[in-house]
Amino acid sequence: MTTEPGKDVLFIGGGPGGYAGAIYAAKKGLSVILVEKRWIGGTCLNAGCIPTKALIHAADRWETVRTASRFGVISTDPILDWPMVQAQKDKTVDTLRSGIRLLLEKNGVQILEGTAEFLDERTVQVRMESGVETLRPSQIVIATGSKTKHLPIPGLESPLVTDSEGVLQWSSLPQRLVVIGGGVIGMEFAFLFGRLGVKVQVLEFLPQILPSVDADIATRLVRLGKASNVTVVNGAKVLSVASTPAGTATVTYEHQGVVKTVEGDRVLEAVGRGPELSGFGWERIGLERGKNGGIAVDARMRTNLPHIHAIGDCTNLMQLAHVASHQAIVAVDDILGLDHPMDYRFIPSVIFTTPEIAQVGATEKSLTETGTRFRVVKIPYGSNGKALIENELTGFVKVLCDEETGRWVGATVMGAHANALIATLTVAMHSGLSAEEIKHTVFAHPTVSELIHEAALSLQGEAIHVWE
Ligand code: NAD
Repeated sequence: MTTEPGKDVLFIGGGPGGYAGAIYAAKKGLSVILVEKRWIGGTCLNAGCIPTKALIHAADRWETVRTASRFGVISTDPILDWPMVQAQKDKTVDTLRSGIRLLLEKNGVQILEGTAEFLDERTVQVRMESGVETLRPSQIVIATGSKTKHLPIPGLESPLVTDSEGVLQWSSLPQRLVVIGGGVIGMEFAFLFGRLGVKVQVLEFLPQILPSVDADIATRLVRLGKASNVTVVNGAKVLSVASTPAGTATVTYEHQGVVKTVEGDRVLEAVGRGPELSGFGWERIGLERGKNGGIAVDARMRTNLPHIHAIGDCTNLMQLAHVASHQAIVAVDDILGLDHPMDYRFIPSVIFTTPEIAQVGATEKSLTETGTRFRVVKIPYGSNGKALIENELTGFVKVLCDEETGRWVGATVMGAHANALIATLTVAMHSGLSAEEIKHTVFAHPTVSELIHEAALSLQGEAIHVWE
């Protein structure tokens, strides 16, 4: 590695934090090495966001075909070819993975396929199939990601039990699936498989699935789940999993003081992810960890060691790929002496259930907890022409407005195209727009984005398409 002070940087980990940071740093004129021990693109590309959304897209198409007669399009006896669904998903992942590798190479990033380990705070050893290389980079960015958490209960070693990575390799669909954990991963898979005809039972430990969303939304999703073969038991403490002689799995759980069982052909364990800190020697160099268990960082992604930054899931701040990628830009800018600290106020997130749930900024719960006075409007999809055309009448756009400042401080979209609508809301909030400013922005017709315009009108008591 070149040793001109401050001009070279080593990224440990090639996920959406590490690879985005490496390309950005190279574009900014730094000499960059990226070490990746398993797969370029990390969990997001290889076993997370991309493959799961590819499968969910197939389920969407399946539902479109099955319900097309409503629109006068008759398709008799459609067939779901699961191996083909999997093959298409794999093709998408492969295409993206080779695309990212190409981008890294074209930008002059040197990729080392191996495992990095600190020998001391300045020296990193990389073990590869081809041998060992010892580096002394002037700057280091740790981007090692996260790994699946497991419950300390008996029976999880059964081959019938899998985690989110194992599910992606299934060669056939089960008839019945038990999902342990009603978080984002659990609910996305529950709806994916439920819509493909699998009977899904979700067991959630807390009184509500999806703890990060408002209770009205979680409750509504549970209700809607029934039409997609998904049932949920909240407040379920899973005790054990056992295999039966018939080759199925029995999951035992406690609910309201009563021990119950549910049987499934397979079990998905999705009870959270924790920072991946194993095997790279962070303990040896005195790197500090935060209370959340991740590597402790400040708003510029600096660790307690001046030449080391950490980004993404290994910091355990927000386990979202797009947060990791943005933290990468912030860290590289800091290395270059540019001051762009992280601002976590308006980070969008999307849960790909049916319907989708997208959120940005505050929730009713978080505003109530901080004692902020706010107004809330909810514009139903049923009031929107494009939603009616598509027969997507379930859901709403909910906007939260600070009473004192008039600024939009939070929004949740539950409904079709929520993943696209949230971008407009994010830009509006990030730019500090008021309802009045959004009211005077023209939204294209006919689009579901008009629901956002209607929310701005409604906040001023001027809604046109909603009776209030
Ligand atoms: P999570 O923290 O979102 O949910 C885990 C759930 O498991 C929680 O609801 C928790 O209460 C429950 N749980 C814990 N112990 C349990 C027990 N003993 N019995 C029953 N339930 C139990 O974690 P996840 O769903 O595994 O996802 C991991 C991370 O990945 C999250 O931070 C998530 O936001 C992120 N992710 C994001 C997306 C997205 O943005 N679309 C998709 C997938 C994952």
